[in-house]
Amino acid sequence: MKGNLIIVSSPSGGGKGTLIKEVLKVLPNIGYSISFTTREIRGREENGRDYFFVGKAQFEELIKKGEFLEFAEVHGNFYGTSMSFVKAEIDSGRDVVLEIDVQGADSVRKTFPEAVSIFILPPSFEVLRKRLTARATEKKADLNLRLINSFREVERFEEFEYIVINNEVTKAIIDLKTIILAERLKRIRQSGSIKAILDSFNASSVEKYIAGD
Ligand code: 5GP
Repeated sequence: MKGNLIIVSSPSGGGKGTLIKEVLKVLPNIGYSISFTTREIRGREENGRDYFFVGKAQFEELIKKGEFLEFAEVHGNFYGTSMSFVKAEIDSGRDVVLEIDVQGADSVRKTFPEAVSIFILPPSFEVLRKRLTARATEKKADLNLRLINSFREVERFEEFEYIVINNEVTKAIIDLKTIILAERLKRIRQSGSIKAILDSFNASSVEKYIAGD
């Protein structure tokens, strides 16, 4: 059985990075898709861990080669998801988390309609503004752009199957984990693993009891 594609989107500062990191620490059988980006490296980020940081020309080369499952311009930079990584993960039966924006989520659904999509909502605009300001990783103009874009992003919440309100982090982590685990328990996803159980409920095993053995 293939793994699930888990799309997680939120406005910048919505806290999806923290939630995903905590969930990945405790759940087995799940990988994280490291995106390619043309954005400058920021704060404590590391190339190959947080993103693959590439130049515009290299990004365009990757587009030409068809390496991206999706790519989009977000807050003035380009971001893209590796198709080969995602396919290898789900084909090996592992779930894979895509931390991407609302445009990317839309593109992924077109290629993989069965993808699970989750929108992380901050408890209010004011809380989002405070979190983004406290993070202090963006210059003022970039921070404002991210706040302006948050309106357009939150507007699209109805495109997502699940909503996690990130008010209290511990609760939001449990919510995110619960969604991923519940998706794995869907009947359709367990048809392979329950086959042996169902096979044991066959006519000959029941007949023994009818005969009183
Ligand atoms: P940041 O610059 O704060 O790391 O990310 C900015 C936005 O780009 C976030 O909404 C993030 O989820 C999104 N993003 C990160 N990687 C990708 C990607 O591969 N594709 C798309 N479409 N968006 C991405």
